[in-house]
Amino acid sequence: MKKAVVVLSILVLCLSAFASAQTVEVDVVVIGGGAAGLSAANAAAEGGASVILLEKMPFLGGSTVLSGGAISFAGTDMQKERGIVDSTELFYQEMMREGRNKNIPELVQAYMDNQLDTFYWLKEQGVEFVDVGQGGGMSVPRAHYVNTVQFINALAAAAESKGVDILKNTKAVKLLTEPGTKEVIGVLAEKDGQEVTYLARKGVVLASGGFGRDSGLLEKFVPVMAGAMGMVGAGSTGDGLRMAWELGADIVDMPYIKATFGMHPEGKTIDDLALTYYSGAIIVNQNGERFVDESINYKAVGDAALAQPGAIAYQIYDAKIRAEATKDPLTPLFDLEDKGMVYKADTLEELAALIDVPAENLKATVERYNSYAEQGFDPECGRASLNAGSGKLVKITEGPFYAFPSTGVIFGTYGGILIDSSARVIDVYGKVIPSLYAAGEVTGGVHGAGYMTGTAVGKAVIFGRIAGLSVIAD
Ligand SMILES: Cc1cc2nc3c(=O)[nH]c(=O)nc-3n(C[C@H](O)[C@H](O)[C@H](O)COP(=O)(O)OP(=O)(O)OC[C@H]3O[C@@H](n4cnc5c(N)ncnc54)[C@H](O)[C@@H]3O)c2cc1C
Repeated sequence: MKKAVVVLSILVLCLSAFASAQTVEVDVVVIGGGAAGLSAANAAAEGGASVILLEKMPFLGGSTVLSGGAISFAGTDMQKERGIVDSTELFYQEMMREGRNKNIPELVQAYMDNQLDTFYWLKEQGVEFVDVGQGGGMSVPRAHYVNTVQFINALAAAAESKGVDILKNTKAVKLLTEPGTKEVIGVLAEKDGQEVTYLARKGVVLASGGFGRDSGLLEKFVPVMAGAMGMVGAGSTGDGLRMAWELGADIVDMPYIKATFGMHPEGKTIDDLALTYYSGAIIVNQNGERFVDESINYKAVGDAALAQPGAIAYQIYDAKIRAEATKDPLTPLFDLEDKGMVYKADTLEELAALIDVPAENLKATVERYNSYAEQGFDPECGRASLNAGSGKLVKITEGPFYAFPSTGVIFGTYGGILIDSSARVIDVYGKVIPSLYAAGEVTGGVHGAGYMTGTAVGKAVIFGRIAGLSVIAD
């Protein structure tokens, strides 16, 4: 009798477990609803696959929606209309230069081979490009701007119109593999407090973003970034990195995670950032001294600034430079002034007093810099241009004078899982992990040791689309 009760209880337990554990089967499961995941979902669905996209937050967009919306492409109709001469060859060279040749050439080449098609494909999905400008690390304007809300909404609407099932509040927790092999067959997820198994007949695309919100991972890989502000998507906690790691995925570019220089120390969003130095401003520390060639990539400037006393510096400029800088979409100086974030004075002495910098130092620094500007080269910090080889140095002479306090901010982690040019995940022994693909900030290898503006969302859309096409083709 007792035995019968035990058997019955076990049966009831099994049945109730079965009732709560759901299993759903589709062709492709995509993890993450930012630029990479939505691009992958669209591409796979366009190829006829049934697709489920899992997003752990109650909203889509990740870091993408918070971003400056700059996406780098070369050779577009928008550039041609404005007389901008650019090419994939120049873009490739500048990406490798910015990455100090630490980038994986095949991945940079795959970016180049797919970038122009992806630009027009995004337009077909309903994405609207509104402007083109020059960002860090590029010698010609190739940062194509989108309104990030329009961008995410357009990609989500396009995906849904193709039948993609977008599930919010659904967190992927584990990649499932065929017993005895590393072949990925699906994802275990948590939805409304329940475990759900999503089986993927063709494969899984990891597009879960970076780990800028995970202080443990940041500490592990880049302890020097402990002093930098973090301003990334709430879901950027390295989940995908850990899931792929568990299967032996290799990782690349981790030592090169850097902070972007130009954020106001009390800034809350990217709207509190200014890159006035690319229009001619100089950067000084609390002693009123320059410490960096301001024309280099804003992430390399970030490294130098974080090493200064108090991890703070000031962008110093005059009325002429201010007028020029306001043309840059990433430098909303008028708004920053309205928010009271910019110091302004009629003389350099008064400005120095406002920011608590020794006046004689600031004056001497500006005088020396002006003499360098006259000769076209600064032997002190090595500045020979305004931004990555373009633009001549300008003197700081016309009052009023301005100071914008700035520090480094983490906008992304850039390094991550190793993939090949088909977005297939590669393990620590150089072998493909079958049926596992990755794209976007969860991956590494494209940026190497440095980042050019617009190539992080660029990497997300280009490799997201590649992943979506590969998962249905393989
Ligand atoms: C303020 C700011 C400004 C920036 N400006 C630019 C710029 O102008 N140009 C540029 O190129 N780059 C910029 N970047 C970097 C760029 O935005 C990101 O690298 C890029 O958007 C990443 O896209 P993604 O799709 O890989 O990740 P995300 O957009 O972060 O999307 C990942 C998604 O996955 C979800 N997710 C995470 N874990 C799970 C899980 N376990 N289960 C389900 N879902 C999960 C997240 O919630 C998130 O929605 C900026 C970043 C920031 C923060």
